Amino acid sequence: MSEPRKSSGQGADAARLADRVRGIEPSGIRRIFELMATMEDPINLSIGQPHYDPPVELVEAACRAIRAGKNRYTVTQGLPELNARVLDDVARRYGHRPETCLLTAGVSGGLVLTFQCLLNPGDEILLPDPGFVMYRHLATLCGATVRYYDLYPKQPGQRFGVDLAEIEALCGPRTKIVFVNSPSNPTGAVLTRAEIEGVCAIANRCGAYVVSDEIYDFFCFTDDYASPVSYAERCIQLGGYSKTYGIPGWRMGYATGPANVLDAMKTLQQFSFVCAPAPFQYALLEAEPSIDLSPYFAEYRQKRDFVARELHPVYALSPPEGSFYAFPQLPTPADGRAGDAGAFLQAALDHKLLIVPGKSFSRRDTHFRISFAADDELLARGIAVLNELAPRFA
Ligand code: PMP
Repeated sequence: MSEPRKSSGQGADAARLADRVRGIEPSGIRRIFELMATMEDPINLSIGQPHYDPPVELVEAACRAIRAGKNRYTVTQGLPELNARVLDDVARRYGHRPETCLLTAGVSGGLVLTFQCLLNPGDEILLPDPGFVMYRHLATLCGATVRYYDLYPKQPGQRFGVDLAEIEALCGPRTKIVFVNSPSNPTGAVLTRAEIEGVCAIANRCGAYVVSDEIYDFFCFTDDYASPVSYAERCIQLGGYSKTYGIPGWRMGYATGPANVLDAMKTLQQFSFVCAPAPFQYALLEAEPSIDLSPYFAEYRQKRDFVARELHPVYALSPPEGSFYAFPQLPTPADGRAGDAGAFLQAALDHKLLIVPGKSFSRRDTHFRISFAADDELLARGIAVLNELAPRFA
């Protein structure tokens, strides 16, 4: 009889991992998910997806597509009619028609392909701080160097925004990508047209690509949404369906931009994701034109107004201009010491409130993210807890 196989143990297994994944830690947000599973009746304001179900027309179209046998691969770039619709839409909104479009496995898929196709080891990428967690890790996987530009309000009461002089100073001969995410996760800010124009002018001068994550473009509460598509000489625009239609599990997104980069991304997609999910491409192609999203938008605008109005002033909140996040500052004690993020988060947890610490998105730990993608009753309960905590931590 052969000897039973001995477990190699966790330490030994870990040592066999590739070097490139060593620095990658699980997302702090995932950890909150796990914590939530152990709680009864949590007030979960940590969620990064809309609280609504997808429009029924879209669900019906997906079911029809599956029943009609649209379950095989599509061509790598996705259905030509859907590609053309994306490009028409972009041209109508931003006055410039990108050369080509690739349907991707969510914006996440688009990010992986863009970074892999543009970043060499030693290249530099400018990322926003605070910013979505994925960017930094994907850049590191390529061996690129991350430089952060600061979005925090420079004075109390100001909005989150870019300092063009800082971006100019950070841009150098190795800068390959200037990355923009507006509306922003986690700040809820929308960059102004002047900011977008300014960032693009700097990138144009130094020959860098502007990569623009526009996944929250539907949730824009300002009147004038500007995209780098209108201003950048080299722009990769990443857009998505996850948030807009309440379908993050469908894994549908798109990339637009110059053919020479998009062709490389398409080739890499051939050897990785293969194509965006076929039945959902057909479903969007069929149902999208008939869907009226305005009730969803109106509801989210109200939620935004509610948070901006009701959150205790102790939190120094820049009212969200887009996405479905607010990023208030931790209460700061009267003696001027920094707020204690750990103690604050624990106190929230003691009230069953789940929020995300600012340090999950930033080098700083001075703020926290709440998502207002929750039903009104839950959102009101969450704000009530925060307001109850406010005087205790101020
Ligand atoms: N970008 C940002 C800013 C996000 O918040 C998310 C999801 N939370 C993504 C990209 C990824 O979205 P998806 O892959 O579902 O399209």
